[in-house]
Amino acid sequence: MGQLTLEKITKTFGTFEAVRSVSLDVKEGEFMVFVGPSGCGKSTLLRMIAGLENTSGGDIVIDGKRVNDLAPVKRGIAMVFQSYALYPHMSVYENIAFPLRVEGAPEAEIRRKVDEAARILHLETRMNQKPGNLSGGQRQRVAIGRAIVREPKIFLFDEPLSNLDAALRADMRIELTRLHKQLGSTMIYVTHDQVEAMTMADRIVVLNGGIIAQVGAPLELYHKPQNVFVAGFIGNPRMNFLPVTCHAVSDAGIEVILEDRRLTIPVRVPAGQSAALQGKAMTLGIRPEHVVLGEGEAQMTVAPSVVEYLGQHTIGYAPLPGDAGNFCFVLPGTQVSAEAPRVSLSFSAADCHLFDADGQAYER
Ligand code: ATP
Repeated sequence: MGQLTLEKITKTFGTFEAVRSVSLDVKEGEFMVFVGPSGCGKSTLLRMIAGLENTSGGDIVIDGKRVNDLAPVKRGIAMVFQSYALYPHMSVYENIAFPLRVEGAPEAEIRRKVDEAARILHLETRMNQKPGNLSGGQRQRVAIGRAIVREPKIFLFDEPLSNLDAALRADMRIELTRLHKQLGSTMIYVTHDQVEAMTMADRIVVLNGGIIAQVGAPLELYHKPQNVFVAGFIGNPRMNFLPVTCHAVSDAGIEVILEDRRLTIPVRVPAGQSAALQGKAMTLGIRPEHVVLGEGEAQMTVAPSVVEYLGQHTIGYAPLPGDAGNFCFVLPGTQVSAEAPRVSLSFSAADCHLFDADGQAYER
């Protein structure tokens, strides 16, 4: 059990619509990640599922039952917060046991469940300590333990790793993925960190301005972003966007002109639209990691202003004409000199994405 359906959920604060008609199905046992820039509404959506925030419209359904009017503790969910929300005067054991004590569970059951959670989270040796004596990662594990003992249908995580340093975050990511496999529970996880989203999620919901920009498996979002927003949000460094003009449309795709060269992007054109596209402004997207050194189908000569050596690969940034920002490229090893005045780069049409004037992707 642990299936969640959101039906046209909205949330308004005064006249401001923070969440706008969001519909979504989360499958039983799924690890679903809500990701998006600050203010996109991901925490508000999670808090409505938890019952910490009222909905302004729409239905929240858990295992076939509408829960809009149920108190948080009656929804069969448990939430883990960024701030841990532990009681400083209580031991680790008592912190984990707390929700069971509130429910009035028998002592033997409390012991069994707390010991089991401690074992799963490798906290056995810490049970008598106070939270103040633990590291950030250990505190977060205690907070997760407190959720586990409630045996919820759905776990909700609100940016649980944001207070940890980079190395610990990477460790905890692996821990949480392992925990999900072990428990098999439905988990909904909010983050603004796309690495967390890509590595942990079965599916990702990308939110922008209170609406869903796309829902899909991590690599589906990477390979087939449906719009400019998702294309730019998923992937690091972000996708390059270049203004192009549609020159012709054929069975092979859309031919565009880029730096005086014709390039046929293998995308599908909706029936009946071909004629109308000619001469239209479009946006071509190419990921920095799909750019190579030297000759190729699409060619660009750039003057890098910054070259970053990361050992394993090198990232270069070259200003584009006008106010189009930088063209970014990632090359393996250290192939480019920081002093090189100009670098000849290329990429394949097959790696390109193409977006219409409204930012919607042509299907590849
Ligand atoms: P962040 O990553 O910064 O937490 P978020 O995507 O989780 O962002 P929310 O916290 O869900 O965003 O907020 C969505 C929008 O709703 C924001 O513009 C925020 O300012 C607004 N908002 C959230 N809570 C309230 C509130 N209680 N009153 C008024 N506006 C609110």
